[in-house]
Amino acid sequence: MDLTLSPYTVGRVPSPGAKAMRRNENRRPMIDSVPAGQHDGPGLKTKRELNRTDVNSLWPKGASKRARRPPAFTLIELLVVVAIIGILASLLLPVLARARDKGKTARCQNNLRQLAIATMLYEEDHQVYPIGWPPADGFTGTYFPIWYRQLQPYLGSRTNVSGRGVFICPSSIQKAQPDERMGSALREGGFWGYLAYAQNCYINGGRRDIGSSSVRDVSGTLLFADTDGWDACLYPDGDPSANVCYRHSGGNERSTETDRGVKGVKAPKGRANVVFLDSHVELRRDAPKRLFTLELD
Ligand SMILES: [Zn+2]
Repeated sequence: MDLTLSPYTVGRVPSPGAKAMRRNENRRPMIDSVPAGQHDGPGLKTKRELNRTDVNSLWPKGASKRARRPPAFTLIELLVVVAIIGILASLLLPVLARARDKGKTARCQNNLRQLAIATMLYEEDHQVYPIGWPPADGFTGTYFPIWYRQLQPYLGSRTNVSGRGVFICPSSIQKAQPDERMGSALREGGFWGYLAYAQNCYINGGRRDIGSSSVRDVSGTLLFADTDGWDACLYPDGDPSANVCYRHSGGNERSTETDRGVKGVKAPKGRANVVFLDSHVELRRDAPKRLFTLELD
């Protein structure tokens, strides 16, 4: 017996049958080298014919090409993906809403800061603050002097036009009006719809002689704050006319303590932007009377 091991039979002793099969393989003609149609016998096929025959024989007759491919994903996998997207959306939407609210709060604070700076410039020119409500006696003309008119030259607008830019809080339901003379009918949001802020009711309400020299604590005295837009004059919490509007941080136009002509669902009390006489801004949950108090009270 020939026990010589070839490189293909390491660890194995070839059987006589295996050796015979290997001899037959060596005698088989090289199919690849035979031109198509010139093979030795009727049962011998070219490599191209063999490939076509083998692939087709793997599938039953009548099976479509779609049936031969496995599906990309199942219905269960699709439902799981949809559920995951839904969960992610439910997590992201409140975050986006809070981010949007913070953006509007920042723009509102910028409005109030500009109004406070305009007030400081006005006071520097006139040695008194703008007039609140009611206006002081002794004025004539169609438009009585009041803070939102008196400040407009310092804000780059015409003196008889309000309701633009800095007069409207971005979180307010009010829309800026092109001209206050559009009509006398009250618009939703109050006060003809062109104000979302009001001035401290103790600053030149019915008078015109209060300036910075009359104020005891400039950095602790409130000047303007968010309101529902009904009044041009701002009243502290606890007052029968209290009108600080806590529309930021989850509140809305109706989160003020008194609802006056404002439609819609009453939201929980949020926070209100307020600006002080030294032009610093705070986002507050309350507006007590001590923030309104002047030296001349
Ligand atoms: Zn605001």
